[in-house]
Amino acid sequence: MAKQEDQFKKVLSHAKEYGYVFQSSEIYDGLSAVYDYAQNGVELKKNIRDYWWKAMVQMHENIVGIDASILMHPTTWKASGHVDAFNDPLIDNKDSKKRYRADVLIEDYCAKIEGKIDKEVAKAAKRFGEAFNKEEFLATNGRVLGYQEKINTILARMGKSLENEDLEDVKLLIEELQIADPLTGSRNWTEVKQFNLMFGTQIGASADSSTQVYLRPETAQGIFVNFLNVQKTGRMKIPFGIAQTGKAFRNEIVARQFIFRMREFEQMEMQFFVKPGTQKKWYENWKETRLKWHLSLGMGAENYRFHDHDKLAHYADAAADIEFKFPFGFKELEGIHSRTDFDLKAHEEYSGKKLQYFDHEENKSYVPYVVETSIGLDRMFLAVFSNSLQEEALENGTTRTVLKLPAVLAPFKAAVLPLVKKDGLPEVARKIMNDLKWDFNVFYDEKDAVGKRYRRQDAAGTPFCITVDHDTLEDDSVTIRHRDTMEQKRVKISELKEMIKQEVEVKNWLQKM
Ligand code: ATP
Repeated sequence: MAKQEDQFKKVLSHAKEYGYVFQSSEIYDGLSAVYDYAQNGVELKKNIRDYWWKAMVQMHENIVGIDASILMHPTTWKASGHVDAFNDPLIDNKDSKKRYRADVLIEDYCAKIEGKIDKEVAKAAKRFGEAFNKEEFLATNGRVLGYQEKINTILARMGKSLENEDLEDVKLLIEELQIADPLTGSRNWTEVKQFNLMFGTQIGASADSSTQVYLRPETAQGIFVNFLNVQKTGRMKIPFGIAQTGKAFRNEIVARQFIFRMREFEQMEMQFFVKPGTQKKWYENWKETRLKWHLSLGMGAENYRFHDHDKLAHYADAAADIEFKFPFGFKELEGIHSRTDFDLKAHEEYSGKKLQYFDHEENKSYVPYVVETSIGLDRMFLAVFSNSLQEEALENGTTRTVLKLPAVLAPFKAAVLPLVKKDGLPEVARKIMNDLKWDFNVFYDEKDAVGKRYRRQDAAGTPFCITVDHDTLEDDSVTIRHRDTMEQKRVKISELKEMIKQEVEVKNWLQKM
């Protein structure tokens, strides 16, 4: 646990030191769970967004994008169920006065049991060596099966109680499991209460004529209310999708995990409209497609897993999360939800407008079913950033800090470095830089010894360093150094562009899907 916490602390300080993420309004001591993206962070975030948009929108003829407003007609949120049901169960500790999400306390308890399973696996793997079969062990070992059974029972009961709004039983479960305040160890809990997560505000000047509106808590509803407009103007045929990326706002109860859980965050969502009855097939299809997108970035298949929901949201007939191994354990990164016809039907009812599709093959109209893929851009940022940050022991006994970002996502693709600040080297370096920057985001640095500049670029996540030295003046060649291997090669200036392109081009990465 201490190791995990250390790693997470390193992520936080590195994100600040290297210009990725700052606390919002830091000079006023910040605002809880609100963050700003800095000069490098904004590039990484944009590259992740573009990587998603390319894969989800531009590579699919039947998916188009929109950019809907953050403020929407307030009835939207009545229809979607958010006014009545977008709640989290909160519980306060009477001694520490700290507030928690009751479901998260229970889930964390289960995660601890899961930790015990991991320990059993590690022990057995050591004992059996090469002959160890993890799947078989998990399916047959008595102790592991006992732990798993316990987790299943707890989560099933919690799911049922939350679905039935039986908050007393949620409290009872916390008591029965003897769950204590993680910060103080106290078990002196209040009742569990529901808390609505939407931020409200007013439109209009005077108090009596103003209208209560909400900052959208998800981008999805902007897609649903535009469903028919897009379908008609784009002449879309089912199955088809509408995607968008944009800010969403939630007044989160507990927000202590950096950009994992923010009050203002960005989502990348795609709603896929299908014929009723085919939703199961499309749900499975999108689960698989989205996992492949993640795996294409090469951050290790062992760091992802699916988690099927026990507790279904009011609109869903099936739901799964893609979980990622963050520095604080496996947590939700993306949700894939089969939302049925709940949203479109509700908007039909509240607006009095038909939101149906005329299927020429079937010769009838129907309300389509929807399969949604929904990923938090900030959580994806954290996944990429934390996974890439590594301390490496070098052969000469020193260590280096290196941010091994997937090259396709790195803010700067290359740094151009004149060996010295004289003898005409900066001029040549500038010329290379001016040529490359039409194709890639490139950084120029001439300060300090070159070794120090290499380390700086390693820590900032730049995949290539291009060094201009005195030989360059004679042979038009430069030294190119690879961030991950530290390997250095002599190449012609004219070959640089193609070399870098091979490593950073979106096409080459997405084709790994
Ligand atoms: P959680 O259970 O962690 O609160 P959720 O199930 O409420 O998440 P969804 O409503 O399914 O999340 O939202 C889709 C995605 O949006 C999530 O998978 C996550 O990546 C992202 N997301 C949700 N809430 C936040 C938040 N407060 N900060 C950052 N990202 C978020």
